[in-house]
Amino acid sequence: MLLFTPGPTPVPESVRQAMATVTLHHRTPEFEAIFKEARERLLKLLGMDECVMIASSGTGAMQACMLNLCKTKALTINAGKFGERFGKIADAMNRDKVELKYEWNTPCSVSDVEKALHEHSDIDALFIQVCESAGGLRHPVEAIAKRAKEINPDIMIIADGITAVGVEYIDVTDIDALISGSQKALMLPPGLAMIGFSSTAVEKIGKGVDYYFNLASEIKKQQQNTTAYTAATTLVIGLNAIFDAIEVEGFDALYANTKARASATQAALEAIGFSMYPQTPALSMSTVFDEDAEAIRKLLKTKYGVNMAGGQDHLKGKLFRINQMGLIPVHESAWVVNAIELALDDLGKRSFDGTANKVFNKKYYKA
Ligand SMILES: *Cc1c(COP(=O)(O)O)cnc(C)c1O
Repeated sequence: MLLFTPGPTPVPESVRQAMATVTLHHRTPEFEAIFKEARERLLKLLGMDECVMIASSGTGAMQACMLNLCKTKALTINAGKFGERFGKIADAMNRDKVELKYEWNTPCSVSDVEKALHEHSDIDALFIQVCESAGGLRHPVEAIAKRAKEINPDIMIIADGITAVGVEYIDVTDIDALISGSQKALMLPPGLAMIGFSSTAVEKIGKGVDYYFNLASEIKKQQQNTTAYTAATTLVIGLNAIFDAIEVEGFDALYANTKARASATQAALEAIGFSMYPQTPALSMSTVFDEDAEAIRKLLKTKYGVNMAGGQDHLKGKLFRINQMGLIPVHESAWVVNAIELALDDLGKRSFDGTANKVFNKKYYKA
């Protein structure tokens, strides 16, 4: 079965091998050297001044940012499950919040953020997804961050890049915290969350905030190439291995390839009658709205050996989402669009003539 869900993504063989070595104790010079290497590579990838790796799923990093970087009022952008989650985290922590809500295919607008910041001068942190994975939507996070800083230079901008880091180059000029997670574009098993910080964010992070997610003590330890609590040693070893795998051709090549696969997939799907769901599609996944999405997904799973993701909440049964993150062999992506065309034939919706595969290959190899 081809795993084509936008997280978790398949873990490459070389990474699985690297993680199969004997367990190291985390308080040893051996592990500190491994940690140092992973930290330096991560800082470079994120393009930020500081970073931490914490043992938790991505949501832990989202909560850690709320705890450490928002003191008075949060502005959260809800255009899907993950933006909604920032709002729920604020509620759970009794933080005041203002939420801008959008349909899941609609990106947040700069003018709505402007208006909210003018109306609520006590907003001290803005939380947004780079890619909102619920609908495969790309928010204009760079433009929003820039405008927010013009209005309030002290505001903290927290960008959830869990389905964007490792997918595309992100301009972090106006971003104070950039969140990443292991099980998406970085092709690792779940369980490692990573956050990059601007030096302004590091200065703002207060002491005595929370216990496990006390980022001040975590940063202090990680600057010494160790962690406050037991490090996720196996995943940190895996992180170096995935850097090794990606760096054979480099991140720029990965970004270009991801973009080429996403464009070819989109062209192929449009050629057989689908349209993309989001107004501004992210490169991390290809998302289609279709009344028969569930039947198509089921056929792909049972007949054509492809596992792709569906929709959630009000879009349950109405979306399919095809992963584009990671080092994906292009023939696998070509098979996915081919399988979807075959499924349309099975459902009596469109007779098969090989259009999807042809358009995919033309766009990928000949454009
Ligand atoms: C997957 C994902 C997360 C994190 O989810 P976890 O299940 O906690 O790892 C957060 N934000 C986005 C945009 C995601 O796609």
